[in-house]
Amino acid sequence: MLAGLFVYYLYQGLSVVAALSGVALIMSVFACIVLHELGHAFMARRFNIPTLDITMYPIGGVARLKRMPEKPREEFLIAIAGPAVNLVIAAVLYLVDGMSGSSVSLFEAMTTQANILGLLMWINVGLVVFNMIPAFPMDGGRVLRAGLATRLDYRNATHIASLIGQVLAVGFGIYGLFAGLWSLPFIALFIFMAARQEVQYVMEKS
Ligand SMILES: [Zn+2]
Repeated sequence: MLAGLFVYYLYQGLSVVAALSGVALIMSVFACIVLHELGHAFMARRFNIPTLDITMYPIGGVARLKRMPEKPREEFLIAIAGPAVNLVIAAVLYLVDGMSGSSVSLFEAMTTQANILGLLMWINVGLVVFNMIPAFPMDGGRVLRAGLATRLDYRNATHIASLIGQVLAVGFGIYGLFAGLWSLPFIALFIFMAARQEVQYVMEKS
């Protein structure tokens, strides 16, 4: 698949070096997402929750835990562990870029292909922001449920968090359709269904 991507980049008129760095960037982003999921998995293991598997989708990864953490503190820490990994990666890349005197603004990173590390740093910042959107069951939504669950009972906390998640998902979907961002409605649908599933899971269990 990566070789195919390389050929595609060449076909698009990129030089061999640019095509290679394009492939390297995709691989690096993939690695950052895997590390994000491993962050969840390691934190879950601290609370004796094994991870069944980590599945990678085109829009990101999912670490499937053997059971859901029910203590709000555990859910909060497991949810925050993934984005925390990307924050650390971004900070390290920022320092490396700073030391080599080549730090780039978001605009520079997006418009020039000169600094692949700078671009990777911004992608990691983007991963943190994207995952912390409080659209349950994304990480930000789990943080939200954990927060709600400290005051409400678990079922009500799940209901409210998933309702907010579904409203946000519908909003993303509609925005994506109007803005011509075609991947957004699919992500939205994914979040919407996942939010419903999670409510069902909690209802069946209690
Ligand atoms: Zn995550």
